[in-house]
Order: sequence, then structure tokens, then C-alpha cells
Amino acid sequence: MKPAKFDYIAPSTVDLAIEALVASNGEGKVLAGGQSLLPLLNFRMARPSILVDLNRIEGLSYIEDREDRIAIGALTRHRDLEHSPLVAARLPVMSAAMRHVAHLAIRNRGTIGGSLSHADPAAELPMLAMFYDASIAVRGPKGLRTIAAEDFFVDALTNCLEPDEIVVEVEFPVLDHDGWAFEEVARRFGDFALASIALSVRRTETKLEGARIAVMGVADTPLRLREAEQELVALPLDAQLPERFSEIVASKVSPNDDLHASGEYRTHLLKQLSKRALRTALEAGERTA
Ligand SMILES: Cc1cc2nc3c(=O)[nH]c(=O)nc-3n(C[C@H](O)[C@H](O)[C@H](O)COP(=O)(O)OP(=O)(O)OC[C@H]3O[C@@H](n4cnc5c(N)ncnc54)[C@H](O)[C@@H]3O)c2cc1C
Repeated sequence: MKPAKFDYIAPSTVDLAIEALVASNGEGKVLAGGQSLLPLLNFRMARPSILVDLNRIEGLSYIEDREDRIAIGALTRHRDLEHSPLVAARLPVMSAAMRHVAHLAIRNRGTIGGSLSHADPAAELPMLAMFYDASIAVRGPKGLRTIAAEDFFVDALTNCLEPDEIVVEVEFPVLDHDGWAFEEVARRFGDFALASIALSVRRTETKLEGARIAVMGVADTPLRLREAEQELVALPLDAQLPERFSEIVASKVSPNDDLHASGEYRTHLLKQLSKRALRTALEAGERTA
């Protein structure tokens, strides 16, 4: 199919882009990489009166070291994150996850601002934003505001932005961890995940001191499993831990059946991935403990 008729503007500044969105009275849409929006237009599932293209705005694509945080401009492409030595060194869980994001052609165009705003419950960057406790900086007619990732994702494909707000930057805290893992199952490499987990641990030789867990593909939004983090740390660090951990994680989710998989199958996958992820994270931690 072809999209319904729309106007198009490619402003040179964020202020002009906001002006165009305000003038559209909620009928306009921001265009970034177009990898999710254009299919929606073609299927006429979205019918904006105007597309406000961000691609001519300078200074929205960068990856910047701010000591305890890494700041990423909204127009930064998935492929830049995948190949960034800074991301590999300072946000290794993100670095490992990025090659699972779609296919090369899509990673060349797709942006972090677009992925977060699209809020697909099986997309890697929204889950990573939850995992890292990212802050999402947003500009609109009332100025700049910062939204915690946990408040940003409201439902499947739904975020908390006003129609005239634009994501301009995302800040990811650099984590203090001894071991980490990212695990995902998709039907074909590059497809959206059926289930996935990001995990990091802090440990001594004899016990866990901290954990961080986020999962996706098993609810309408990515989930941070804070209760499971506490329960994991309270358990003895022994050979049974990965098995027990997988039970804990499975007990925190109840995915629905859908076209791609039953809820039961997604839970089963998540259990297996949890076990594998904890083993990997603990082994890495053992080498550094
Ligand atoms: C076949 C296929 C497979 C895919 N597989 C995966 C996958 O496995 N994992 C994954 O994570 N993603 C996957 N994607 C999605 C891909 O990562 C997209 O790039 C991403 O979801 C959207 O980014 P974009 O920059 O292309 O956004 P666009 O398509 O341009 O926009 C998406 C939405 O976000 C809004 N938007 C864009 N930028 C901003 C901004 N700065 N501020 C406010 N709103 C904004 C738009 O108005 C629109 O509503 C897949 C896509 C396709 C087509």
C-alpha cells in the first residue's frame, strides 16, 4: 500500500521542528530513521497531516563520555552504537545487545530516539534504557524535561510524550559491575525477540552484593525486575543458584499468548535464558573477584 497524503518539512533546528509539531495540532509526526514509521504509513495505520523530518538538524547524533554517564544524541543510528569503542568499553551490555537489533540495513538508519519513542515491547533499546536507569531528555513548547526510563514506557507502542515533544538525548549511567550478560531468542537472527534478559552482578568470592535485571518480550513494556534483584542477592552463591534464579524470574512474568508464541513458551524461554545469563555473569565475576 501507499501512505495517505501528508505534508513534509525538514527543519534545521529542534525549535523549528517543535514549532511545526505545535502548528499541526497533534496531527504531525516526527520522522527519524523511518524504519518503524514508514511501514505504519504504508499500511495506513498512521495518517499524520505532516512529517517533521529530524535528519537535517545538526548536533543530534553523538556519543559522549560524561565520566559517570554516557550521553547519546537522539539521532544516533543503531549501527554507530553497535560499533562504538566508547559504548563497548563503558556500556558493554548495550554493545552486546546492538547486533541483535533488526538487520544491517535497518541498523544503518534506525535511531535511538526513534526506537525509544516507538516503544516496541520486544525492542532492545527500550529494555536497555530500563536496565541502565537511563534518563530521556525531551524538548517541547514548554522547554526541556527529563524523564526516567521507568516512566517513559506506558504500554505496548505507547510512550508518555506529548504530541509536540521530541526526544533529544538519552543518558546512560555507567554501571559498577563484576559480571554481566545479555541473552535473547528470536525466530531468525535480527527478528524482534521472543524473550530476552539483560543482567549484571556485583560479587565477592563468597556472595552476591548487587544485581540488575531487565527483561523483554514477556509483557506490554520492557520490565525491570527489582524484586527479583533483591531475591537473587539474598540467595546463597552455590551451584543451585542459576536454577533457583530462573524460577524467580519466571515467577515475575505472565506473558500473553500472541501470533508469535504462547505465553507459556515465552516464559520457558526466559527461564532458560535467565539460567544461562546468570552463569555467564558469575563466571565473568569469578575472574575479577
Ligand atoms: C523488519 C524490521 C525488523 C526490526 N527488528 C527490530 C529488532 O529486532 N529490535 C529493535 O529494537 N528494533 C527492530 N526494528 C525497529 C528498528 O529498530 C527501528 O529503527 C526503530 O524502532 C525506530 O527507529 P527509527 O529511527 O527508524 O524511528 P522512526 O521509524 O522514524 O519513528 C518511529 C516512531 O518514533 C517517533 N520518533 C522518532 N524519533 C523521535 C524523536 N526523536 N522524538 C520523538 N518521537 C520520535 C516517530 O514519530 C514514530 O512514531 C525493526 C524494524 C523492522 C522494519
